Amino acid sequence: MSKDARNPVELTAEAKNKFEECVAAFAVCGFGADGPLKDTTFAEIEEFGHEVGRMVARAVDERLAIQHASHFRGAASCPTCGNDCPVKETPATRDLQTCDGNVPLHEPVCHCSVCHRDFFPSTHHVAD
Ligand SMILES: [Zn+2]
Repeated sequence: MSKDARNPVELTAEAKNKFEECVAAFAVCGFGADGPLKDTTFAEIEEFGHEVGRMVARAVDERLAIQHASHFRGAASCPTCGNDCPVKETPATRDLQTCDGNVPLHEPVCHCSVCHRDFFPSTHHVAD
């Protein structure tokens, strides 16, 4: 992590360029190509920036959760009986309430044919 308190996430040069392009695109979406009108208040600018930040946070959360879920393939041990259970093809989807709003979470899910129950291997030990 960078020691820059204003920008605590360390970005590569490529990521910095893309970030600046995204910021420019967001600004245009919020206030047009010429920027805020003369009578725009800083509070209005701040509110827009804050909403963009929350939107980016939700998108990053969702992307990282999908990548994290990819670790849970194959089989997992049932937390009740220890039976090896295959991970279903289709993950369970639910909205997770975060401090930045709802984030769709796509969780790998297993079904134990012995216990007749579903469980989420991401919260239990996964069999190799
Ligand atoms: Zn079981």
